[in-house]
Amino acid sequence: MKSTHYPAFLDEARLWSIIAQESAPEPARIRDVLAKARQGGGLGLEEAAALLAPMPEDCLEELYATALTLKEQVYGKRMVLFAPLYVSNLCANRCAYCAFSADNTDLTRKSLTPEEIAAEVRIIEKMGHKRIMAVYGEHPDWGAEAVAESIRTIYSVTSPPSGEIRRVNVNAAPLDSAGFALLKQAGIGTYQCFQETYHRGTYETIHLGGAKKDYDWRLFAMHRAQEGGLDDVGLGVLFGLFDHRFEVLALLRHAETLEDLYGAGPHTVSFPRIEPAQNSLLSRNPPNAISDPVFKRIIAVVRLALPYTGMIITSREKPALKRELLRLGISQLSAASRTSPGGYAEAVADKPEAQQFQMSDERGLGEIIGELQKDGYLPSFCTSCYRKGRTGEHFMGFARNAFIHNFCEPNALTTYYEYLSDYADEGIFKAGAECIREKIDALPDEAARRSMLGLIKRIDEGERDLCV
Ligand code: SAM
Ligand code: SF4
Repeated sequence: MKSTHYPAFLDEARLWSIIAQESAPEPARIRDVLAKARQGGGLGLEEAAALLAPMPEDCLEELYATALTLKEQVYGKRMVLFAPLYVSNLCANRCAYCAFSADNTDLTRKSLTPEEIAAEVRIIEKMGHKRIMAVYGEHPDWGAEAVAESIRTIYSVTSPPSGEIRRVNVNAAPLDSAGFALLKQAGIGTYQCFQETYHRGTYETIHLGGAKKDYDWRLFAMHRAQEGGLDDVGLGVLFGLFDHRFEVLALLRHAETLEDLYGAGPHTVSFPRIEPAQNSLLSRNPPNAISDPVFKRIIAVVRLALPYTGMIITSREKPALKRELLRLGISQLSAASRTSPGGYAEAVADKPEAQQFQMSDERGLGEIIGELQKDGYLPSFCTSCYRKGRTGEHFMGFARNAFIHNFCEPNALTTYYEYLSDYADEGIFKAGAECIREKIDALPDEAARRSMLGLIKRIDEGERDLCV
C-alpha cells in the first residue's frame, strides 16, 4: 500500500520561519513559556523553538529545573529498564551512518535462528530483564511474518527462577498496514521507527540506496501502523545529521499530527546520537555533531513539550551524561546491552566487526541498578500498560489525568521487588528492600500503604507478575 493518501503534515518553510521568529526570545518570553510548561499541557512549536534558542544561564537553569519537576510529576522516580536484542544485521539498505549498511562488506553478517533467539532471550532473562527491544536490519528475510514469528519465539522462552519476557518492542523497517497488523497479532508492545532526519534533502543524500530511500514511506509509517491496529508507536531522530532545532520541531509536529488524527501521540521518543560505526566515515564526522549541552537542551525541551511521552536513552551515551539526562526528562534506559546478533550468548561475537555502533556504557545490569538506587530512582521492570490495554488513545486518557502515577509507581515497586528477590545479590537486595520500604512509608494514604504491603507479602510468598 502506498502512503500517498495521507495528508502532508510537515511544512519545512513554516518550521524555518518559526525558528527565525523565535531565534532571540526575551527572558520574559522564556519565563512565560516555562510557566505554561509547568501546567503540564505541553508546548506548541513556537514555544518549543523559543526554548531551543540561546538564553541566559539563569533561564537555562530554570528550564532544566522545570523539566525535572514535570517529569517527576508525571512519572515519579521510576526508571524503566530494557534490553535490546539484535535479531539480524542483514540489510539491503545503504544508510551512510550505519555499520549494517549493505556497503559494509567487512561486517560479519548474522541472522539468528529461532534457537539462537531463544538462547539470547534466556541470557537476558537471567539478568532479570522483562522487556526487550528487538532490532532488525531491513532485508527480504525479515518481512512482517518473520518478525512476527521472532516476537512469538521471544515470548515463548521462560527460564528459572521467574524469567519471562513480558513485553517485546520492535525497531524494524516500516511495513504496510497488513504487516503491522501481523505484529499486533504477535503481541508487539511498541513499534519504533526513527525518521533519522526530517529534512528531506539531507535524508535523500545520506540514504544511498535500498527501500529506505523513500522518505515518505518512512514518514507515514506510523499512520499505516495505526491503520493496522498498532496504536503504540515510538518516534526518534538520529541526532547529528541535520540542524537540531529543525529536527525537534519536525518531531513535535509529527507527534502533533498523530495525536490529531488518532487521538494519541507517540508512546515514546528516542534520542539516538550518531556513534562511530564500522566503515562509516559520516558516523565518525557527523555533519551536525551535537555537543552534550545541546543534547541536554533537546531532551529538556522535548520533556516540556510532550510531558506524557516516555523518553528513551540507550547505551550509546556515557554513564555520567546519562545521569544528567535522567534529571532532564529521560524515563527509560537500556541496560547491559549488546548490539550485535548473538552478542549476549557469545561475548566474542559482540566485537566491532559485528556491532551496529560502538557503545559508551558497558556496565552490567546490577551496577546500573545500584547507581540508580543510590541516586534515589526506583528501577522498574513494569510491562503493565499494554497488557492492561492502556495503549494509544486509552493511555493518553490515563496519562492526561496524572493517573499514570497510580500505575507506574505501584508497578515499579512490585516489579523491582520481584527483581530483587530473584536476581539481586545480597547487598543490592538489602538496599533495594529498604528503599521500597521507604517509598511505601511515604505513600499518602493508609489504604495505599496497606495494599502495597499486601503485594510485597504475596511476592515473598512466591507470587509473581502482580501488576495493576
Ligand atoms: N533497520 C531498521 C531501520 O533502519 O529503521 C531498524 C534497525 S536500525 C539498526 C535502528 C536505528 O539505529 C536506526 O533507525 C538509526 O537511527 C540507528 N543508528 C544507525 N546507525 C547508527 C550510528 N552510527 N549511531 C547511532 N545510531 C545509529
Ligand atoms: Fe539497515 Fe537500518 Fe542500518 Fe539503515 S539504519 S543500514 S536500514 S540497519
